[in-house]
Parts: sequence; C-alpha cells; structure tokens
Amino acid sequence: MTITLPICGTEIDVDFDPAPIRQRYAEERARRLREDNFGQFQGFADVRAIDDTDQFSAPIERGAIAAEHDVVILGGGFGGLLAGAYLTQQGVTDFRIVEQAGDFGGTWYWNRYPGVQCDVESYIYLPLLEETGYLPTQRYADGDEILGHAQRIGRHFDLYRAALFQTSATSVRWSDTLQRWEIRTDRDDVLTARFVVRANGPLNKPQFPRVPGIADFKGAMFHTSRWDYGYTGGDQHGGMTNLRDKRVAIIGTGATGIQAVPFLAEDAAELFVIQRTPSLVGPRDNRPTDPAWAASLTPGWQQRRHHNFNSLVNGHPQDENLVGDIWTTILTAVTGRHLVEAPLESFALDDQVVLAEVADMQLMRTVHDRIEGIVANPATAEKLKPWFGAICKRPTFNDEYLQSFNRPSVHLIASANGVEKFTETGLVVDGEHYEVDCIVFATGFETGSSTADRYGYDIVGRNGLSMREEFAAGAKTLHGFFSAGFPNFVELGLSQNAYVVNFTYMLDRKARHAARVIGHALSRDIARIEPEDGAQAEWVQRTRESGLARLFYLATCTPGYYSGQGDLQHGFFGDVYQRSEIEYWEMIEKWWEAGAFEGLQLSSAELELQG
Ligand code: NDP
Repeated sequence: MTITLPICGTEIDVDFDPAPIRQRYAEERARRLREDNFGQFQGFADVRAIDDTDQFSAPIERGAIAAEHDVVILGGGFGGLLAGAYLTQQGVTDFRIVEQAGDFGGTWYWNRYPGVQCDVESYIYLPLLEETGYLPTQRYADGDEILGHAQRIGRHFDLYRAALFQTSATSVRWSDTLQRWEIRTDRDDVLTARFVVRANGPLNKPQFPRVPGIADFKGAMFHTSRWDYGYTGGDQHGGMTNLRDKRVAIIGTGATGIQAVPFLAEDAAELFVIQRTPSLVGPRDNRPTDPAWAASLTPGWQQRRHHNFNSLVNGHPQDENLVGDIWTTILTAVTGRHLVEAPLESFALDDQVVLAEVADMQLMRTVHDRIEGIVANPATAEKLKPWFGAICKRPTFNDEYLQSFNRPSVHLIASANGVEKFTETGLVVDGEHYEVDCIVFATGFETGSSTADRYGYDIVGRNGLSMREEFAAGAKTLHGFFSAGFPNFVELGLSQNAYVVNFTYMLDRKARHAARVIGHALSRDIARIEPEDGAQAEWVQRTRESGLARLFYLATCTPGYYSGQGDLQHGFFGDVYQRSEIEYWEMIEKWWEAGAFEGLQLSSAELELQG
C-alpha cells in the first residue's frame, strides 16, 4: 500500500500508513509506563547480596593527605584526564585528580563485560589521538583498548603523579574565609583548591530492579559493570569456559545487554535473555583500521573528522560523510530531509514535525526488516521488534546480537513487566519460573536522582548554599560551566551545554574551555569567577526552551532513561542545551575571543580583600 501525505502543499509518498503505527507506539508505551518511575530501581547499598568492591586493582595503602592546590579535579575518566591534559598545556600543573577507581579510565575502567566496545567510531571517540600519536586498531575499539588509551593520556601528560586513586570525595565546600574550596575524601584527605573541576560522569552508579527476593538467590549474580570473571572464566574477549555447563540469565537489553549477549550465547550451556523492551539494533560493520587510510591522514585530521561528524548529527548537511556510520544515518534520516526536494527549513515547524515522524517510522521499518532477515523463528523476530521512535531510547549497533537467537540454547523471555521476583534458584517472569545458576544484571545506571546522590557528596557554595537544593528543579548555569553561588566551580560533565552523540568530544571541548578560563584566572590573580544572576537566568531559560521539541517527541516514547522512565521532567537531556553543537561551540569561541567574559564576574584578589 502506498499513501500520499500532503505536507504544506508538497506530496510525499510512503508505503505505509502512519496511523496504526502511531497507535501501536502508544499501546506499547502504555504497557510499560509505571507509577514508580525511578523508584523501580535500587543501588548496591540496598542489594547487599551483590559485591561492589574494586576487583580490578589491588587495594592501595596510603595515609591521609593535607595539601593546597590550584585545582582539584573530581573524576579520572576521560573528562578528568582531558582537564588534566589541557590544564597542563596552559601551564597549570598544581592539581590533583580524585578518582574512585584504581586507575584512570572511568566508565572504561568499570565496564569490562564481554563484548564491551565503543559505539561511536573510535577515530573520533578516543580523544587526543594526534597529540598522543595513537591510532585505534579497529573502527570500533574494544573496551581494553579504550582503557589503554585513557592510561596512555595519563602517561603522556604526566597525570599519574597527580592521581589519588581508590579515593572518593565525601564533601566539597567553599570556604568564605579562605576563598578556597575544601575537599574531603573517604581517606580523610583534606585538599584545598582555588578551583574545582567536576568530571564524575552521568552513568556512574549501577542500578538493579527493586523486585522481591533479590537477596534470596543462591547462585552467582553481578552487574555488568562489575563482571565476575572469577566465576565465568575468560575475559572481555570471551572464552568464559566456566559457563559451559551453566544456565545463565541476563536481565536487560539496552546498549550493554546487546553487546554482552552474543558472548554469553557462545559460552553458556543455556542463556535466558530477559527483555522488557527491545532495543533498536542497527548494523555495526566493524573492521580493522586500514593501513592505507591511516597513512593518508594529515595533521588536523581528527578535528576535521569531528567537525564533519558533528555537522551531520546536528542537522548541517555536508558534501561528504567521513565517518559514514549508523549515527549519521539515523540522525540525518529522522529529519525527513530526504523525503522532500525543497530545503527542510522552508517548511513550517508543524510540517517539519509531521515529516520527521514519517521519516522516523520509515527508518524503524528498516530496523524491523533487518530483524526478519536475520532471526529464523518468526515469533521470536516479532518479539524483538521495537515499537517506538528511533531516538526514544539509545540506539544500539551489533552484527551478532540478533543472530544469537538462532541458537537453540538461547531463549528470549519477553515481557513488558520484566522480572517479577527472584527465588533461591532463579527468577520469575509473567508467572513462569526460570531456574538458573547465574544472573547478570545489564539493568543500567541511576539517572533520575541529584548529582549529590549519585556522586556521594553535595557541592556547598557561598554561605552554605547547597547545589542539591539549588538545582532541585533543574541545573542553573552559564553555558553549562559556571554557577552563581558556587565560585570557581566548573562542571565538565553533561550540563546546560550542547551535546548530541560523541560524549568524549563534549568533554574535550569543555575541558579545553575550562582550562583556558582557569589558566587566565590563575595567571592574573583573579580570586573568584562566578556568573552574573541575570546572564545565568537567561541561559537557563534558553536551555529550557531548547528542549521543548525533544520533550514533545519523548512524550510518545516507551519509558527509558532518556524519557525519565516516563517522568519527562527528569529525562536524561532535561538539563542539556539542545541546539546545534556546532553553533554552540561557535558561540563559546566568540565569547572567549571577545575577551569580555560577558555574563561572568571576575573578581581580583585585591578587590576581594577590600570587600
Ligand atoms: P539501559 O538503562 O540502557 O538498559 C537497562 C536495561 O535493563 C533495559 O533493557 C531495561 O528495560 C532493562 N530492565 C530494567 N529493569 C528491568 C526489569 N525489572 N526487568 C527486566 N528488564 C529490566 O542500561 P545499559 O547499561 O544497557 O546502557 C546504559 C547506557 O550506557 C547506554 O544507553 C549508553 O549510553 C551507555 N553505553 C554505551 C556503550 C557504548 O558506547 N559502547 C555500551 C553500553 C552502554 P527497559 O528498556 O524496558 O527499561
């Protein structure tokens, strides 16, 4: 069937009727919406039956430290590493990096589950490639290669000397008397610093379903970010020979579950994949780095690649697509630009929305077709089809996941309600008990709570101002970096800055900008940097308005962390400035080049003393 849709006088042909698809999306969403939203999850602290210790490094013994620094960086993932690298380039070397793990790497330190890889092309995901003289071995690098690159950055910029590993901040307070931050840690360190740069990451705290009986299960169980290779055998490349006689259940089919399932399917005697909502699984097409291409690269290649990729995923058409991946495919396809001859911008906003909806459905039909083409059992294929818009949830890309369901030993247990309860010997889904030896939780990370809850400390600014309370109804920043009431505090993580796909690119740009502002302040003896209230309020307003289109889209989505599990105000992008990253960074560059620091108050030490 072909139907013709009139959009602003332009006819477009599509071979499906959007109405029943829209209806199906609404039904699937309704089946999964829950009143408890984020309350459906619990953390390690509640699930004491599951081990949370750092099994990847030997315990570090050291005494408490008391020291004064120019800068304390909270977090030693790519954000903290990039902050350290760019501060060093600015000539600022008096800093400490406080990191919970036993080494650098952040999410890549903890996430060592089988099959772990980046989903963004490694030539743009791994930062500072030209600076460190490294080129990844594959288009999508494995987790250990990414962790190795984090460590390479640490060595290259001499950051290990600054690291306090296996150390967590417990209190971060501005001292009005000292005009310094005071950072206390779980090792009784007391650090004072003129600046604090926070890079703690958005997905740092593993979560588990809050369903009865989790502590009753007598078999092995662990979260994907604390994989127990002692139990399974093998490593992130597979070879989990201890599972050859084991019945294993994996709960969750998000980006993590999709990567781990093919490896479990290979090694486990039987695998039960517990699916509440199927993911969009696109093609991956991983391949080794082509030596001829590597030899052809000329200086500045990584920045040019970034610009090309970011232009495409931010809706700026380009003559060529250098990365040519699924992100650029999806994010250009869902605009509907290809369905009309006239430029998209010439259509009224309402028409653009209709066009985008149709284009999105068209894309999802190719996702369904791919499933039918790969999965042999039609009933299983049907259950694996996602019924929601392409960017309702994080898209995933894998060339072995769907194929796993063609193995007789792999069972898809699909239920919109998910796991009902755990027992001593297994778990229950839709009233049916599945007896297993091992349960793997690929159930994601806490997102809806305040950063104070997720990071284990509040930021307390001038006059005892609590960031937890100040940000209770959403972040308040200038450009996603600085916040009134919290002098010399710089947020490097996801905030009211622009961000679309490549998280490390965002961290790189934020770190570069933060380092030059801090370098400027330190070299001119500026004691305090803080936004003006009016400028901050205006940025907060612009950020809120920028998110309205996405809120409208997410309102039709099956719940997930992008949509705040149905509580849209607490969605993952709620505090993000949702306009083009290209335009945002052009704005920041102009702001910097103007040299007026518009919207920021820079107070000199002299003024402070007089005040
Ligand atoms: P997600 O939050 O994306 O997925 C959690 C999964 O657990 C979902 O499938 C969810 O189902 C399911 N689930 C939760 N509760 C239950 C329950 N009671 N019963 C059954 N199933 C349940 O977590 P991930 O760890 O997969 O991914 C988190 C993010 O980490 C990604 O979105 C991505 O940003 C990042 N990541 C990046 C990777 C990369 O780039 N290589 C790889 C892996 C992760 P439902 O959908 O119904 O809620």
